[in-house]
Amino acid sequence: MIKILIIEDERDIVQALEYNLKKEGFETHHSYDGINGLKQATELIPDLVLLDLMLPGMDGIELLKALKHDRRTENLPVIMLTAKAAETDKVVGLEVGADDYITKPFSMRELIARIKAILKRYGRKIKETRSALKFADLEIDPEKHSVRAAGRSVELTAKEFALLLYLAENKERVFGRDRLLDSVWSISSEVETRTVDVHVRRLREKLGRAGRHLKTVRGVGYKFSDV
Ligand code: CA
Repeated sequence: MIKILIIEDERDIVQALEYNLKKEGFETHHSYDGINGLKQATELIPDLVLLDLMLPGMDGIELLKALKHDRRTENLPVIMLTAKAAETDKVVGLEVGADDYITKPFSMRELIARIKAILKRYGRKIKETRSALKFADLEIDPEKHSVRAAGRSVELTAKEFALLLYLAENKERVFGRDRLLDSVWSISSEVETRTVDVHVRRLREKLGRAGRHLKTVRGVGYKFSDV
């Protein structure tokens, strides 16, 4: 999966970005400040960074310079998110090595188009369409955001759907609650891990017999099993 790191202190924007990027099939990570953002970029080595200019801790330009001065991150594609239409900021950003910039407020469609263009330029393969996952009595369609269990359509919340899809796409792999929170909710495990249990329970209820695919692995977490 293509990983996108969002370094942005406005939480509403982060949330909107993550929602839309996930819908496009990207894996997302985020930091709300510059110092942590830089740390994450070096640890994670994402495929692309969305970098806000005005950040607490370390501003976007400083962060970008640091990325470009580190061999591990010097080739990371970066799109800057600029709050104001200040020409100088854009020029400095591009001089320092950003690939592109977009001015807030921006349209998600526009941003996603630019992300895809840059990834293509860097030779990253983007899956344009995600095919449906089919099991004997369960079908999960990431494009239509729909689930059918034993031929009947099942209404799921966005998170329930994301959790089911994540587990099913990684069939037979066991995930701890912390990891699921991080991957599906994009929040750190400080938030109650019980959230995961609640979602799994609801999923099982809604899926009926097909709910058996969701297995509890005692002492570890959950997995999706095709039996
Ligand atoms: Ca900001």
